Amino acid sequence: MKTFCTMLASGMILLSFAPAAWAGGPVRIVEDGQPRAAVVVPTDADEQTKAAAALLVRYVKESSGAELPVVDEKAAAGKGVAIHVGPDGYAKGLGLALEKLDDDGFMIHVSAAGQVVVAGRTPWGTEFGVCEFLERYVGVRWLMPGSDGDDVPEHKTIVVPVEQVRQEPAFFSRQFSGLSGPQSLWARRNRMHARVSFHHNLQKLIAPEKHARTHPEFFPIRGGKRYIPPDSNTHGWQPCFSAAGIVEAAVGEICRYFDAHPDATSCSLGVVDSSGHCECQACQAKDPPEKNFLGRRDCSDRYYDWCNRVVEGVLRKHPDKWFGCLAYSEVAQAPSRVKVHPRIIPYMTYDRMKWIDPDLRAEGQRMTETWQAASPVLGWYDYIYGSSYCVPRVWFHAMSDYYRYAHAHAVRAMYAEAYPNWGEGPKLYVSLKLLWDPRQDVDALLRDWCVRAVGAEAAGDLAAYFALWEDFWTRRILQSKWFSKRGQYLAFNRADYLADVSDQDVARSRALIDSVVRNAGTPRQKARARLLALAFEYYEASAVAYAGKKTAQEPAPSSEADALRLLERAQRVADMGAKRQRLVSEVFPRHPELLHPIDFKRYPALRGDDWGAASIWAAFDWAARSRKVRDCLRELADPSRATSLSAKSMLVMLDKTSQPVSKNPSFEDAGGKWPADWSRWIKWGTGSMEVAPRAACSGKLGVLCRGVKRGGPLQSVQVPPGRYSAVAMVRVPKPLKGDVTLTLSITPLDAKGANLPGPSTTIHARAGDWMRLATGDSIPAAIDGKPVKSVRLILVVDGLQGDEELHVDDMAMFRLD
Ligand SMILES: [Zn+2]
Repeated sequence: MKTFCTMLASGMILLSFAPAAWAGGPVRIVEDGQPRAAVVVPTDADEQTKAAAALLVRYVKESSGAELPVVDEKAAAGKGVAIHVGPDGYAKGLGLALEKLDDDGFMIHVSAAGQVVVAGRTPWGTEFGVCEFLERYVGVRWLMPGSDGDDVPEHKTIVVPVEQVRQEPAFFSRQFSGLSGPQSLWARRNRMHARVSFHHNLQKLIAPEKHARTHPEFFPIRGGKRYIPPDSNTHGWQPCFSAAGIVEAAVGEICRYFDAHPDATSCSLGVVDSSGHCECQACQAKDPPEKNFLGRRDCSDRYYDWCNRVVEGVLRKHPDKWFGCLAYSEVAQAPSRVKVHPRIIPYMTYDRMKWIDPDLRAEGQRMTETWQAASPVLGWYDYIYGSSYCVPRVWFHAMSDYYRYAHAHAVRAMYAEAYPNWGEGPKLYVSLKLLWDPRQDVDALLRDWCVRAVGAEAAGDLAAYFALWEDFWTRRILQSKWFSKRGQYLAFNRADYLADVSDQDVARSRALIDSVVRNAGTPRQKARARLLALAFEYYEASAVAYAGKKTAQEPAPSSEADALRLLERAQRVADMGAKRQRLVSEVFPRHPELLHPIDFKRYPALRGDDWGAASIWAAFDWAARSRKVRDCLRELADPSRATSLSAKSMLVMLDKTSQPVSKNPSFEDAGGKWPADWSRWIKWGTGSMEVAPRAACSGKLGVLCRGVKRGGPLQSVQVPPGRYSAVAMVRVPKPLKGDVTLTLSITPLDAKGANLPGPSTTIHARAGDWMRLATGDSIPAAIDGKPVKSVRLILVVDGLQGDEELHVDDMAMFRLD
């Protein structure tokens, strides 16, 4: 890494593509399907270098049919055309200055004498050199993971021009998380290589198990008393950075680690998660009086001062190592009095797609530049989530812009929470290419990917498909209620942006992707087109199902014909809701490219149980008085239909075939007091909840929630496993100031009374007449191995202010079969 620092210091450009041709003919390594060269490996080659040689042989064979022999350098000595993979004796004799390269850098040196060298200073460099060789001379592209992901053009003859290529990555550490199996291998071919550790680590470096008895002073003073954490898995504390001997303790620990792991390139100095900094006088004296930009105590000076001293100690023994850390919470701001050591890389955390907002970009750039003044090398931590999004989230051009900006402002290490999905096509491909060299033309990269992925004839429509979604995510999304200026990252666990996806977006995407499938070229290109189309099925189903959620909040139909149309539409919407769940749980796990690494069961707002069939409930009053509507409902209640649960729930209520399993749905009580069958939950004690005549929908009383910031009526019910539904009437009598949501849930509870996942429906409250809120699903005997002991029927209101009112009545739970 010597070069890296020298270059930083001298302000030189990190990358050097210098294809300098000189006299002599090009080198034929394959001719008419026959091998014309040997692959030479150093006698002392390690496993990674041997694997890189095997990779070269494999793809040359796949392209041409010719299998290049692999020979040891001693056996090869001077005989015929050779590709030297790794720094063998021949390569070393050329004076290529490999030792000055970054660890991931490489040279491809082609001489007119028929000798080709592909070598880095390290095996990683050699491996990436082989990837470059295959892309450049054989035309290989690693487009996506999986068996159809490689694009390997056929060449009966492979010719390598006489030239010299020297490359180093612009960002020396390139890391995505959330990749599984074949996805990681794919990323490695596109030169992903994580080289900096930066996550929470101080709880291990200053481990309570090791130091609590002998050095209690290493642990923080909090509330006037020494706090000794029970173990190194406990979060919410930080060491006392002023304690005598704590620098030496950390230096010793890290040196022992590097002694045992000489190949490790870095060690994390990341603070413990969840705050808890020391309040001793010596520590506090180092803090500036102002809070940091997050409104937290600014502990950056004390922390980075300590880091500097630790790093200086370690570097005396291990001079080539890096030290990553997280610039967040109390240490998020650049220190004001301390200059950060050039071997420390603070990672700044932010979802930089948000930079499409000019104000946020200006603020983010200001922050980066403040950090740049305090720290010679920076890392960026990004949130480029793919799979939890319900339409392709791509922002190629904005990404290219901010990568260039980053490189121009001392950012040299990149990390992103990616959790990818190849429905987003070239997103990660383009990202990894740009992390290697952000000066590349993003349009050329996109064009190349589309042409290779599906063939020239289909590429235009594929590019148009991604352009539509790039426009959505970089221009139109700014108008969406979902887009928030606050917070470090966008809400990947909520899909409200679907409200801004139009029927035309879905129809246009469908037309484009169908055309891509029709016009794709080779069998592999057809396979990739089908895969992208399968991914689109999920996006389409999500958008259509979510539109059902919108309909559910529209006014009830005004005629029988409207009610019947609503049921027809509800059926299509419910089918789409069921389809998207089936794709994620059953179909995508069979495709490594489409697998969702994030289980959306964790996020009810993503799972969208309430998106599909919810709109059926708007026809309830018509079903009560129209035989036609009721008959239609009976059809929809058939167990094979996605509408079954909602339709069956309505019929159970309309036909009065079953009594509620909950008690006192109308909140009646002789004394006008709060009814004994119900409980009240009012979080933070903000607001009030009483029974009142003006809140009655039926009977004499209903629940009047006034100014409840968060809370609602609830009732626990013991029920056997089966299908259940819940329904409640709600009314907001007057317009509201802010965004208020209403969530009706059936929450299963375990033996300890802890919540287990269950069905719920959420709507945004609107002033108007009474409306019906419903939810339901099967309640099994056990969830995640935990027996269901009871369920809680609850309606939660979120966000009432001042005197704002919500009325709730006729809230009940029914068993369906
Ligand atoms: Zn202290």
